[in-house]
Amino acid sequence: MTALSVHRLNKTYGNGLQALQDVDLEVEAGDFFALLGPNGAGKSTLIGIITSLVRKSGGRVDVFGHDLDHEPQAVRANIGVVPQEFNFNLFLPVIEVVLNQAGYFGVPRKEARERAEMLLRKLDLWDRRETEMRLLSGGMKRRLMIARALVHRPRLVILDEPTAGVDIEIRRAMWGFMREINAGGTTIILTTHYLEEAESLCRHLAIIDQGRIQARSDIATLLGEL
Ligand code: ADP
Ligand code: ADP
Repeated sequence: MTALSVHRLNKTYGNGLQALQDVDLEVEAGDFFALLGPNGAGKSTLIGIITSLVRKSGGRVDVFGHDLDHEPQAVRANIGVVPQEFNFNLFLPVIEVVLNQAGYFGVPRKEARERAEMLLRKLDLWDRRETEMRLLSGGMKRRLMIARALVHRPRLVILDEPTAGVDIEIRRAMWGFMREINAGGTTIILTTHYLEEAESLCRHLAIIDQGRIQARSDIATLLGEL
């Protein structure tokens, strides 16, 4: 089963900048996949399109067999995203950030409460559940975004530079948690500009630069070639 299929995807922004050029990408269900590339390569644009935040200029995206053009709702329901920037909902208490997201996806309230508690405990945020999001540290906000991304049990989780700017201890804890989610069968795609992170976590990776996929490989092969 294919989790994500991207075919000849193009994006030209309003100012004429061509951020993606004929991008082709396939990610199999259950994979842990890294999208590696320098700043400005087009990673966030690609994720923005897959998660309906950015309009594509051309091409096709399918998520678990649902075509983004015809079944955007089904695509969204299958994806949990941890964005790079999260300055929304800052005045909401932690627990409400998670419950709101569950509500958005139609998770029944009781079920949502149980899942929220489980996730917040796991991510070491349960004691902060009544704290407004704006009062959390950067690392805590990131963990909250992970809880929020998982509460509707998406089959594909996309993390955009999940460990940028967090210290090594939190980074390792987040790696452990991501591995655990993946071991449970959830497909994970993460963007990073750290090769070390891709190497430590992922089975497959693609390298993107200047809006084009430059290489796609499994980690072992790539490392052998370096
Ligand atoms: P679109 O042009 O596809 O509607 P947006 O609405 O997201 O794109 O952005 C509007 C404008 O803001 C862009 O055309 C561009 O001039 C500017 N802009 C926003 N983000 C960036 C960025 N990261 N780099 C360069 N320009 C940007
Ligand atoms: P990455 O996530 O790999 O750093 P991005 O997808 O953010 O790359 O950006 C790819 C290119 O598109 C960059 O040149 C960036 O400046 C440009 N860009 C991003 N968003 C916009 C926008 N809204 N309008 C115009 N250009 C943009």
